[in-house]
Amino acid sequence: MSAVVTEKPQLREGAFGHATALSCRECGHQIDLGPFYACPECFGPLEIAYDFPQVTREEIEAGPRNIWRYKALLPVPSDIELSPNTEPGFTRLLDAGNLARELGLAKLWVKDDSTNPTNSFKDRVVACALSAARELGAKVFACPSTGNLANAVAAAGARAGIKTVVFIPSNLEQPKQVNSAIFTEQLVAVDGNYDDVNKLAQEIAGEEDGWAFVNVNVRPYYAEGSKTLGYEIAEQLGWRLPDQVVIPVASGSQLTKVHKAFQELIKLGLVEGKPYRIFGAQATGCSPVSVAYKAGVDAIRPVKPDTIAKSLAIGNPADGIYVLDICRETGGAVEDVTDDEVRDAIVLLARTEGVFTETAGGTTVAVLKKLVESGQLDPSAETVVINTGHGLKTLDAVSGRVGPAATIAPSYAAFAETGLAEA
Ligand SMILES: *Cc1c(COP(=O)(O)O)cnc(C)c1O
Ligand SMILES: [Zn+2]
Repeated sequence: MSAVVTEKPQLREGAFGHATALSCRECGHQIDLGPFYACPECFGPLEIAYDFPQVTREEIEAGPRNIWRYKALLPVPSDIELSPNTEPGFTRLLDAGNLARELGLAKLWVKDDSTNPTNSFKDRVVACALSAARELGAKVFACPSTGNLANAVAAAGARAGIKTVVFIPSNLEQPKQVNSAIFTEQLVAVDGNYDDVNKLAQEIAGEEDGWAFVNVNVRPYYAEGSKTLGYEIAEQLGWRLPDQVVIPVASGSQLTKVHKAFQELIKLGLVEGKPYRIFGAQATGCSPVSVAYKAGVDAIRPVKPDTIAKSLAIGNPADGIYVLDICRETGGAVEDVTDDEVRDAIVLLARTEGVFTETAGGTTVAVLKKLVESGQLDPSAETVVINTGHGLKTLDAVSGRVGPAATIAPSYAAFAETGLAEA
């Protein structure tokens, strides 16, 4: 187990807000808050435990229009707004009537996280990781990434004035490479897939002091940022929970945290408790969780990813087993779709709702469609689908599918010939 700093850091009072300890998801063992991510007893993943104050809807609504309106429920200090970060969150919850009609759903919303500062949901988790890195005295802010995380870390680090080093698979989409390199001089392309890059990051975290790898050694703090997606969905629905949510699964962290957020809101009395179903979405070319779900087994067999949904291409998902638990317990499911279905769904969402999603969102919308068609999703129930990233980052996925209807000379006659003149 690696530490961000070798010696136990001198933490300032309230450095992690109302967080009280790191608690093991497997055995429940608790340790003091610090730069740790694995249980010293059983090596299970550590999670943040809290002693929440009584928070009211009014207090939250009076907060800033970003994730810090929920700061009382996150492992961040109460003065977090004073520290420069990208201020992500409070993205729109879009009433998707056209897509609902197209799919035969009574009521559908798109939670559109493509409008975050670096155009993916990763800005949320990175803002929380940055706060932890700061409080722990880290010198370098780093990550292994499938692309979006690298963009978010590089941008947040630039704003915070902390050195960033981001590691990506060398075959990553060009827009995602440029979107990182524009913010940092330390973009490292690794010849290997994400799982190789992740292994390398763990090695560096073990060797070097002062490095905060957002999704490795400060992962417990980082992961909590995804809860804000769940808080926002509930608040934007008028402080109530939806019946069904469809969420993309890479490591599986986001899905587990949306569920955690819903549970916390119920416990705090901020929403009424009710049953809801959570569905996971994967691309068939990297679907270890979906395969385990369909086989009815608990163990996840790692795979070598081969899909255009690169931001979801984690072959050995850390939170996969918890995704299975949650989807089964809530009466949801995990489903996967082919790359062609992903492309079709990107176009479908764009043409029905004017939202250009990346391949991860294409995967999620395609899974939504498949779940409706197979009867696994109740078409009469209120459904939310999460769009986690922007289509401009994965242009290649659809550039062969869409383009000019005609290329013509600059004359009226030429235009009339195309048949596009009728209103
Ligand atoms: C990282 C990512 C996800 C999935 O996140 P996990 O928490 O690892 O499951 C989904 N969509 C996009 C666009 C991402 O970048
Ligand atoms: Zn343990």
